[in-house]
Amino acid sequence: MTGTVHLVGAGPGAADLLTLRAARLLRMADIVFHDALVPDDILSLAERARHVRVGKRCGAHSARQEDINGLLIAAAQEHETVVRLKGGDPMLFGRAQEEIDALRSAGIDVQVVPGITAAFGATSSLLQSLTERGLSRSVVFLTPRTGRGAVACDWARPAATADTAVLYMAGRDATAVTAALLLAGVPASRPCVVVESATLPGERAWPTPLHGLARTCARIGDGPALVLMGDVYADCLAAADRTLERQQFA
Ligand code: SAH
Repeated sequence: MTGTVHLVGAGPGAADLLTLRAARLLRMADIVFHDALVPDDILSLAERARHVRVGKRCGAHSARQEDINGLLIAAAQEHETVVRLKGGDPMLFGRAQEEIDALRSAGIDVQVVPGITAAFGATSSLLQSLTERGLSRSVVFLTPRTGRGAVACDWARPAATADTAVLYMAGRDATAVTAALLLAGVPASRPCVVVESATLPGERAWPTPLHGLARTCARIGDGPALVLMGDVYADCLAAADRTLERQQFA
């Protein structure tokens, strides 16, 4: 008898944004394999489980994906409830498919519990909808990051054609990201907001036009950060300008 591996979304950070199903599975888990981004107050729900950290922050040392797949298979052969806990939603930039495929081909039962992705955490904090009547009818989630050995693709084109774009893992290469977006035809004045540590205590947000993105991203601290881009953020940008003016004339 082998156990089940549950790929569970931990949400963007705040523990009370976890789903009830995720919390129940964490309490039941025999062993939890988690990403570096998952906060301790979420992990502590898995009080009877062994906790194994398997990566991954910004190229820092982390377990290789094949090794993680192997660990999950081995754990399912030994335990009834195995949880693979991932930041945000497992099915978005979480390498879930590789784990699902490896587990299924090893004959192991696998289930997925969705979580709130970082984009939804950030957009709620900003009180600015990703879509807006008359302004934005399309949203694209993308990352400029290509995995080692993966073929580079033209990620910037969909960012230029969607009304609203959410860029994951873009903050650290903001100069190259800005250049690629400008080359793809995004106007230099397109409003952006950089959100660090969405839903977490250290949350911060900086509005900027695209041409100021690299300078703005240089202010990101240790937390994970997203870039939101589109005309829906024009009001955020105007509000930031007004604050700046007030500071200048104070
Ligand atoms: N599966 C996750 C994304 C994993 S990729 C999800 O659905 O959210 C990791 C990237 O997500 C980070 O580099 C950052 O761009 C973004 N991210 C994750 N948590 C975040 C947070 N609390 N605030 C801002 N960005 C976050």
